Amino acid sequence: MTLNRRKLLAGGGVAAAGAMLAAEAAQAQTPAIQWNKEVDVVVIGSGATGLPASIVAREAGASVIVLEAQPHVGGHARVSGGNMPLGGGNSAQKKYGVEDSADLLFRDLTDWSVVQPTGSADYRYNDREIIRAYADNAAPTFEFLKAHGVVYVDKPPDRQGGSSVGNSVMRTMHVAPVDWPLIQTGAPATPAQRLTMSTGNGLTQPLHEAAKKIGVEFLLEHRMLSLHREGGRTGRVVGVAVDNNGTRLNIRARKAVVVATGGSTGNVDFRRMFDPRLTEEYCGIAGMPHSDQDASGEIAAMDVGASLWGTYNQTAEHGSGITKPGRVGCQYGYVNLRWQPGSPLFAKARAEGLRVGDWQNVITVNMLGKRFYDETGRQYTSNAYKGIDPYVQNSYLNAKNLRWDPNNWLNAAMQGVGDGRNGGGPIWAIFDSEAVAREKWDVKPPNVDIEGGFFFSADTVEELAAKIKMKYQRVPMPARNLAETVGSYNGFVAQGRDYDFGKPRPLYTIAKPPFYAAWCTPVLHDTRAGLRINARCQVVDMKGAVIPGLYAGGESAGGFSMHGLPRCTCQGFIAGRHAAAESA
Ligand SMILES: Cc1cc2nc3c(=O)[nH]c(=O)nc-3n(C[C@H](O)[C@H](O)[C@H](O)COP(=O)(O)OP(=O)(O)OC[C@H]3O[C@@H](n4cnc5c(N)ncnc54)[C@H](O)[C@@H]3O)c2cc1C
Repeated sequence: MTLNRRKLLAGGGVAAAGAMLAAEAAQAQTPAIQWNKEVDVVVIGSGATGLPASIVAREAGASVIVLEAQPHVGGHARVSGGNMPLGGGNSAQKKYGVEDSADLLFRDLTDWSVVQPTGSADYRYNDREIIRAYADNAAPTFEFLKAHGVVYVDKPPDRQGGSSVGNSVMRTMHVAPVDWPLIQTGAPATPAQRLTMSTGNGLTQPLHEAAKKIGVEFLLEHRMLSLHREGGRTGRVVGVAVDNNGTRLNIRARKAVVVATGGSTGNVDFRRMFDPRLTEEYCGIAGMPHSDQDASGEIAAMDVGASLWGTYNQTAEHGSGITKPGRVGCQYGYVNLRWQPGSPLFAKARAEGLRVGDWQNVITVNMLGKRFYDETGRQYTSNAYKGIDPYVQNSYLNAKNLRWDPNNWLNAAMQGVGDGRNGGGPIWAIFDSEAVAREKWDVKPPNVDIEGGFFFSADTVEELAAKIKMKYQRVPMPARNLAETVGSYNGFVAQGRDYDFGKPRPLYTIAKPPFYAAWCTPVLHDTRAGLRINARCQVVDMKGAVIPGLYAGGESAGGFSMHGLPRCTCQGFIAGRHAAAESA
């Protein structure tokens, strides 16, 4: 214990002395831990939050270890699109004449009146303290990233990647790959793309280099298992228990531990606290197989008393938390992530998937072989530009100016088959050889995953139904059902009208063999609720008290509904600074 009891009592610090005695008592109850390593700050996770946190803490004079569960750094951030709507009046905005400020950013991200076509509110439930901290640190984070090797595409900020209604000025900049190899292909970008395309490779790789250069230690394949807190749930967080390929280690953090583990969508039990529908079959997490979002940070922190925060933001039906797959016939069908055979991760991803250009070319059916919705239906939206027209910041009238759009395929896909069970089960895209020709698909590996059970073909529709066997198909698909579904759909095409689900003028019959069934189950993407934090990114417990020595940020933190990299990098920037300032 670093406090001096005599000094405190002599100085009349009764409350502080009381706290000290409690801490001592807590420490006395804690079994002695055999520490294998010791450092000032332990950062758990090497993605969008962990990398900036580690650099900031190291530059503030702390010794830093980054623990990474995977054999590689970068997390979801590396596979991301690199669209970065940090604003607040940064140098790129200034260069291109965009007037922005921390106050405007704060006002935008707490604008209660931004409402999606479903009625769901983007920012209404954001925690003002957390947003204020973000708004004040967004521009400094932008400059910090630039100063540590991140190259932005040199063009005016735009709206691509989550910056429109509710973001009243242009804020999105794009991170260029420069010469870093793209994890999706294994090769660097082409000369034409190196300064023009947008990718998370250009974010994580230079930050990793910068961190190593200043002495941050990276321990790969070191999975944090739990946190050590003095007295169980009463004292400081003093370190972490780690698994390194079967070897258990304890690493002491003299100052602080930063949870930057990236969220919870990959943990079935955890995600079902928010949405009971999300059972095992939703196995196509967007950033996998590069890294998982297994809720390990949230669970470890909750084990030592942490609270969750802003849980509406996770259940609200907006944003990219759950998405319609853009690629079918593979497990990982997130529309903007295509694993290619040159990638070091390809063996785990197993297939690139078939990009659906026109949903007129397929029908989608449930486990029982029945259609359930208009295939051209969309997914939840976020910050929908011109979704409210006219949009007036903070206006009570915005909700009246909304263009109502009920055309949501996702909820129908997750409805299930009426067997009393949760989860919609597998969804299959069904099509024929004519559709293959129209889409110019090559329905062979590496484009489709036959071995994994995510793609089937047959000469008749009945045979196709009988072939669909894989672990999430919890009931066999009746061949008669699929034949009837295809037959009646072909009738709708002939009549020029979808009498079941109102698909706008169904165009193509499914008639020419071979016939195909390709995995088309919703994909999980974002985590928007997690640990309760304050403006400094300190983790807060169920009674509203700070847990000393514990910080969190990014997708593992709650209270902030915003997709992706800006909030994560910014909270890493904040957490690293305050973690390093703790006394050892
Ligand atoms: C395909 C795709 C495209 C995207 N595109 C964009 C975009 O264009 N713009 C945008 O703003 N956002 C985008 N995002 C979202 C963005 O990438 C994430 O929001 C962001 O990376 C999350 O940062 P994080 O630090 O919370 O988690 P991550 O970046 O995922 O990092 C978490 C790290 O923690 C590690 N970890 C987890 N548990 C443990 C443990 N127990 N012990 C040790 N290590 C652990 C993980 O392996 C991982 O490396 C995209 C995401 C995906 C998947």
